[in-house]
Amino acid sequence: MRYQRPKGTADILPEEAKKWQYIEDTARMIFDNYRYHEIRTPMFESFDVFSRTSGDTSDIVTKEMYDFMDKGDRHLSLRPEGTAGVVRAFIENKLYGPEHQKPVKVYYIGPMFRYERPQSGRQREFHQLGVEAFGSEEPALDVEVIAMGMDLLRHFGLKDLRLALNTLGDKESRDAYRKALIEYLEPHYDELSDDSKTRLHKNPLRVLDSKDKRDKKFVKDAPSILDYLDEESQKHFDAVKSLLSDLGIDYTIDPTMVRGLDYYSHTIFEIMADSKALGEGYTTICAGGRYDGLVEELGGPQTPGIGFGLGVERLLVLMEATGVSFPVLDQLDAYVVGIGEDTNPTTLKIVQALRDNGFSADRDYLDRKPKAQFKAADRLNAQYTITIGDEELKSKQAHVKEMESGKEISVPFDEIIHDFNDVITDHFND
Ligand code: ATP
Ligand code: MG
Repeated sequence: MRYQRPKGTADILPEEAKKWQYIEDTARMIFDNYRYHEIRTPMFESFDVFSRTSGDTSDIVTKEMYDFMDKGDRHLSLRPEGTAGVVRAFIENKLYGPEHQKPVKVYYIGPMFRYERPQSGRQREFHQLGVEAFGSEEPALDVEVIAMGMDLLRHFGLKDLRLALNTLGDKESRDAYRKALIEYLEPHYDELSDDSKTRLHKNPLRVLDSKDKRDKKFVKDAPSILDYLDEESQKHFDAVKSLLSDLGIDYTIDPTMVRGLDYYSHTIFEIMADSKALGEGYTTICAGGRYDGLVEELGGPQTPGIGFGLGVERLLVLMEATGVSFPVLDQLDAYVVGIGEDTNPTTLKIVQALRDNGFSADRDYLDRKPKAQFKAADRLNAQYTITIGDEELKSKQAHVKEMESGKEISVPFDEIIHDFNDVITDHFND
């Protein structure tokens, strides 16, 4: 009997995992520079946490949730996205309290689950990096979050980025816009997709987000949210645009962009990267926005918030397609070659001592001939080889060879064991 991984999941093998580590390490470094701190929330939550926040009419809730009843009859769901759980944690742990500096800025990295039709860049288990900032309505914070997303993608070597920007305004603006949208769409009711028929009255903005051809043809001439903004909403949007320009960040306003989730208000954005290499135009890899009503929606005190999520698989596919090189992360400091069985204990001792002193070190465990051991050292990118045979056991000295220069010297075991760093500086660093 042979087992296969579940449909839509992936094994990330060691070679590939190095790239993941590089992406995660880089992201952590950048988030840290912006003073965002890691938060780790459960991989599953009450179903309600997601249905409440994503909205009953969203694709995520209606089609893509991995929900189940547990043995205690609790309705749970694997998380389809990161924000809802973070907001739940923000409220439950009272991060809104006075002892927490505002804005509260957090990030997460981890797997998400959606029941989707698997295809390139679309899986059932996938990964997102994301940030959330709570407790400020300042447009400057919107811009910080957007700038951080751009910064992150640039660090990953993606140069041709496009920022699409829109606003959903505050609740009053959105209500006025909804009404206008329903009025515009109602006469075409019969021509809409089934999904859009159900959504038309519950949440007409979703019709704009539809991928169905039948709906798309109405999007072009639909009324624009930008004509329905009240003064406050207009002011916020203008400030965001002007601060983006101050930072030299170009953007395109896309009034038909509404984002898939119900909880957004004011600024929403998507960062797209050139994906000609994938045979496509531009692909969205980072998406986010403001959600000033979300904390309240989940039972917390009125607290504004803003964040983004970034798909790691899609990022990787793009980086590879555009030929971004991953820095060599895999350097071995020393490979210890043992010739003859008697060297076994000494070899082990030296490998272990090197590791104790903070070097990466390895040796052979398959009784390989010296030639094969040197080959292994080469393949592992070893900077130094340390060779021990019968002669060396007697003299208690090993041959240390710098692979790149070929320079080789004899060094007492003790020196290698106690301070290999000194050995390198004394003999090899000219
Ligand atoms: P799409 O319109 O492509 O379905 P979405 O609106 O559902 O995207 P978001 O919920 O905004 O996507 O998630 C943010 C990012 O997470 C996406 O831009 C994408 O990179 C990634 N993502 C979303 N769903 C998947 C998936 N099933 N597999 C891999 N990555 C995904
Ligand atoms: Mg989707």
